[in-house]
Amino acid sequence: GLAARVQQLTKTYGAGEGAVRALDGVTVGIRRGEFTAIMGPSGSGKSTLMHIFAGLDAPTAGHVWIGDTEITGLSDLELTVLRRRRVGFVFQAFNLVPTLDVMGNILLPFDLDGRQPTVLERSRIDGLIASLGLGDRLRHRPHELSGGQQQRVAIARALATAPDLVFADEPTGNLDSRTSREVLALLRAASAEHGQSIAMVTHDPIAASHADRVLFLGDGRIVADKPRQSAEQIS
Ligand code: ADP
Ligand code: ADP
Repeated sequence: GLAARVQQLTKTYGAGEGAVRALDGVTVGIRRGEFTAIMGPSGSGKSTLMHIFAGLDAPTAGHVWIGDTEITGLSDLELTVLRRRRVGFVFQAFNLVPTLDVMGNILLPFDLDGRQPTVLERSRIDGLIASLGLGDRLRHRPHELSGGQQQRVAIARALATAPDLVFADEPTGNLDSRTSREVLALLRAASAEHGQSIAMVTHDPIAASHADRVLFLGDGRIVADKPRQSAEQIS
């Protein structure tokens, strides 16, 4: 089945002569439990596609479904609730709350949902903190962290509620190769073991080789859709 899909998606920024068509008739689905990498040159529309998939930005034309729900018709409130319950997002700029420490940032999705993590969720969060090497940084605020550490906090926050869908924009962009592998393994486990659907924008072919499927964007269109090459399979 499909965890999310877009149909005939068009996104134009601006109007008149200065208008930029960021997406041009994109139709594609994100399959349940699949780890999808999205590649393509700078400016090809990758971030725009992820933002629209996650309901963070509205398309100029076309349709977006999260599961069976078409989000293009939802009110802002309905959309916010759906996103909080079902979608995790790792932003390129991390979007951490500067006044909250690491733990506060990781627990933010629960606060926004007005609840405490369950015992099971708490143990998953502890596991994320350990695998991301954040254990000795929980009381630090974002400005006291390196870029790589901030990125790892953003990843822990996106995975903390175990959302059905996780969108990650360059999640390994600031990480050294060892930490990158750790993050890719986490995303892989989220899809392979927990059935979450992961879509990750990346410029890095090594990062993309961890995915089940690679979509290539060019000039606002999908120009290729390939299963992972077996030669690049990680052990
Ligand atoms: P990518 O993520 O592949 O680099 P983007 O989705 O960021 O591509 O951008 C696609 C196109 O849309 C680019 O030409 C970019 O300049 C333009 N664009 C993106 N966001 C905006 C915006 N907020 N206002 C105007 N143009 C934008
Ligand atoms: P990384 O290898 O993760 O990019 P850095 O080399 O940038 O880390 O940082 C090394 C250490 O210095 C990190 O453990 C981080 O906690 C600390 N650090 C980095 N920037 C700051 C800062 N602005 N204030 C306090 N501590 C910092």
